[in-house]
Amino acid sequence: MPTLEIITIGTELLLGEIPDTNSTYIARTLRDHGIDIYRITTIGDNPRRIASTIKEAFKRADIIITTGGLGPTIDDPTRQAVADAVDQDLVFQPELWEQIKDRFKRFDRVPTANNKRQAYIPESAIPIENEVGTAPCFIVEQESSCVVSLPGVPREMEHVLHQYIIPYLHERYTLKTQIIKATVLHASSMGESAIDEKIADLEELANPTVGLLAHPGQVDIRVTAKAASEEEARALSLPIIEELETRLGDVIYGRDEETLESKIIELLKENQRKLTLVEFGFLGTMVHRMEKHGFEGIQSNAILEEPEDLNHLEHKMMRIHQELPNHILFGAAFTPNKQPGVHFVFVDGDSVITTTRYYGGPRDYVPLWAGNVGFDLLRRHLIEVNRNK
Ligand code: ATP
Repeated sequence: MPTLEIITIGTELLLGEIPDTNSTYIARTLRDHGIDIYRITTIGDNPRRIASTIKEAFKRADIIITTGGLGPTIDDPTRQAVADAVDQDLVFQPELWEQIKDRFKRFDRVPTANNKRQAYIPESAIPIENEVGTAPCFIVEQESSCVVSLPGVPREMEHVLHQYIIPYLHERYTLKTQIIKATVLHASSMGESAIDEKIADLEELANPTVGLLAHPGQVDIRVTAKAASEEEARALSLPIIEELETRLGDVIYGRDEETLESKIIELLKENQRKLTLVEFGFLGTMVHRMEKHGFEGIQSNAILEEPEDLNHLEHKMMRIHQELPNHILFGAAFTPNKQPGVHFVFVDGDSVITTTRYYGGPRDYVPLWAGNVGFDLLRRHLIEVNRNK
């Protein structure tokens, strides 16, 4: 599988004035054509640094794509940089100059003397027509590698990529279109490093790859397979997904679109139970998460101010329990100033369980963390209830 490096050129990108959307676009497009992306680099308008980056990239990659820096001004450095990187001179191409003049005529404009610079490309370069802009593009081949220089303007870059570059790459590298299929397993109640210890050997696999992404109170495990078809990718992923599920057991609560909330609703339906959620001090975020799923068996009660103390939550819940004795009540309270930590209370029939959990991360993440931890406790409680039915 050929390897690709992308070099985006422009001081405005380097200074963060505009986001580099070109590299994302190229990476996403070409990965589906069976090309492995190894590196993305951004460089300012400096021909010396661009040339040395291209030279280095030639040592590693089969395909190098640059975007930007092909305009007519002196600080549009890509033509010179590519010529330097491949030890060639820039050579005037009368044909390109005719194309540029033609294009200006179509736009009812007259090219300036500067535009003539755009007709100079490295000696062995293959010119590529840019029908939607004025900057001509080109490809320089070096043994089995090549450098492709595309315009910076996204619309122009995308057009030339699809119209000329993808067909060229298919022919030169006999590419096999492939698909990438990712499955995300969601885990809760076990931290990233504990999960990492259990699955470290799987994280070293090449296809599918297994990677971890930690969120407050939740860890995602992404299994990504590359294959010629969806079925093949699924077949590659399946044994690894099963292995992860065996090793992590009920720490994994769902896949892909599934959420803790959707799992809770599923369990409540299975059990034909109703839930009342009482939330103190999280600005209603937990209740809002649950309400988004719109299950009629859920009542909610978001109290926006922080509770004075924990008794406040328990009293409130006992009152609700008297009114709704058949509901499972789940309460969560955050009392940052008095008792730091998040307090959870379950009332289900005669049983009342309270537990406190602590979070060391930034305060802004407390509602998200508490929601994930609390909903996971609730999920486990419902699994237990189902088991004991
Ligand atoms: P032109 O013929 O317009 O001069 P060019 O190849 O010289 O084309 P640049 O001058 O480098 O391209 O960039 C033109 C514009 O394209 C930039 O001002 C910016 O708005 C956009 N652009 C350049 N590079 C990127 C990038 N990597 N991602 C998103 N937009 C980009």
